[in-house]
Amino acid sequence: MAGFRLKMATQLGEKIAAEFGFHQFPVDAFDIARQKEISVQAKPADVKGVSGAIIFANDKVTIIYSNEYENAGFEHFSLGHELGHYFLPGHPEEIIAMGGAHMSRADFTQNTSIELEADHFASGLLMPTALTRKFLSNNQVGLDSILKLADEAGCSCTAAAIRAAECSAYPLALVRLPEAIDP
Ligand SMILES: [Zn+2]
Repeated sequence: MAGFRLKMATQLGEKIAAEFGFHQFPVDAFDIARQKEISVQAKPADVKGVSGAIIFANDKVTIIYSNEYENAGFEHFSLGHELGHYFLPGHPEEIIAMGGAHMSRADFTQNTSIELEADHFASGLLMPTALTRKFLSNNQVGLDSILKLADEAGCSCTAAAIRAAECSAYPLALVRLPEAIDP
């Protein structure tokens, strides 16, 4: 059941990317926020321990994204994560019920349901399946191509690695062959 919800979150991210007219890399999450009249601010430097936040107040939505690592990909992914809390069914209601403000720890570091769903949304938004598969078919899967995917899609390396594994035609796992086993 949890896996199904995460898959739906990825698919919703892809759908939003297409709806806002993005059919190639990079999908610009800042532009999507602008089109939805969401106020986007960089996180104040003295706020530590969170990657970003979303605040629902008086019918206005404010997103705060992390720029503390000076890593454009991570900033973009953190914004995609917050947009997940805006677009995913049930998220605004849950956050408003908790007082209207939600602090995030993006990039697949948390395992609570709304955090994981928002990470999967961001992953689908910034790396839609068709675009990611096309990229992987033109680039041999490996560390170099994962770094290149992160660069082209504008997302964190962790997110790119996870997405590359999901979209790869080949299983990305180390397999020990029988002849390599010591007698
Ligand atoms: Zn979050």
